[in-house]
Amino acid sequence: MTVGFTAQHGERGRLDATQPDLGCDWAWEGIHRARPRVDMTCPECAHPVHAKVSRHGLRFFAHDPGSPTCALAGESMEHHLLKLELATCIRAAGHHAELEVRGPDGDWRADVMASGPDGRTRMAWEAQLSPITAEEIGRRTARFAKNGVRVCWVATRLRPWVGAVPSVHVRPPAEDEARWLVTGGLVRFEVEDCDDRYGCPAGHGAWREAATDLRSFVRWVLDGRVVPHRLPVIYSGGYSFDVEGHVWAGAWTAPQYVDAAAAFAEKEHRARVRREESRARWLERKRRAEPQQAAAPRPGAVPRSG
Ligand SMILES: [Zn+2]
Ligand SMILES: [Zn+2]
Repeated sequence: MTVGFTAQHGERGRLDATQPDLGCDWAWEGIHRARPRVDMTCPECAHPVHAKVSRHGLRFFAHDPGSPTCALAGESMEHHLLKLELATCIRAAGHHAELEVRGPDGDWRADVMASGPDGRTRMAWEAQLSPITAEEIGRRTARFAKNGVRVCWVATRLRPWVGAVPSVHVRPPAEDEARWLVTGGLVRFEVEDCDDRYGCPAGHGAWREAATDLRSFVRWVLDGRVVPHRLPVIYSGGYSFDVEGHVWAGAWTAPQYVDAAAAFAEKEHRARVRREESRARWLERKRRAEPQQAAAPRPGAVPRSG
C-alpha cells in the first residue's frame, strides 16, 4: 500500500497527517481535494503524493501513480495504524512526536521519534512487523545509539528477536476494545514466602508478566518508570523466563523490581552459603568420628579362633 503519514511541502516544510493542524498550522481541508492541487512530495523518495482519507476515516498521503520503489510505500496499513497509535501514545504522555524522521547521516529512519519536554532526550519507536534477524535489529539499535537515540521495537508477533533488544509485544484492539494492549515484554518481580522455611529461607522469587495497555506503557517508558532489563538465562528459580515457548532474554520493568530481584538473589546466595557451610561442618565432624569407628571392633566382626 502506497501510504505515508508525512509529506514535504515547498513552503510549509513537513506536513504530518496525524496532527489536526498538519503540524504547521494548516487545515487538512487546505490540502485534501484542494483546487488547484497542492504540490507535495514523499519525504523518502521525493515522488509526488496527494492527501487521502481511508474508508475508516484515517488521513494519510498516497504516492501518485508511477512511483519508484519507496521504503514508505512498501509499508502495510497495520504498520501505519501502529505508527499512528504510537504517535498518539507519545503525545498523550506529554512528549513531542514526529513521524518518519531521518538520522543525520541517513543511516536510520525512525517510524516515530519522541522528544522529551526538554527537547534533548530522544527515543525512537519502531513498528517492526516484517521479519528481521536478531543480528540486523541489533545493528539498527546500535545505529540509533550512535546518535544518542534510545529505541523500543514494537512487534505484533513473537519474533525470535523480541526481548533480545528493548522491545514490546502488542496486539491491536478487538472490536469492543478502545486501546492497543501490551501482551508481552513488561514484567515484575515477586517474592512469596515458602511453607518450608528450612528448605527455602529466602522464599520463592520469580519474574512474572505484567499486563497493561500500550498508552500506559509508552508513558512509563518515556517517564523512566520502566527500564529495559536483561533477564538471567537461568535465574534462581532454576528456569528461564519463557511464556508460551518464547524465551525472553530481556524485558521492561520498574527499577524497584530490578532492586527486589537483586536483593532476593543476594538473600538466596547467603542462604546457600550458610547451608553449604553447615554441611561442610557436618562432614568434618563425621570425618573425625570415622577413624575411631573404624578402629573399634564391631561385635561379631572379628573371626573367632578355636
Ligand atoms: Zn515515497
Ligand atoms: Zn520452598
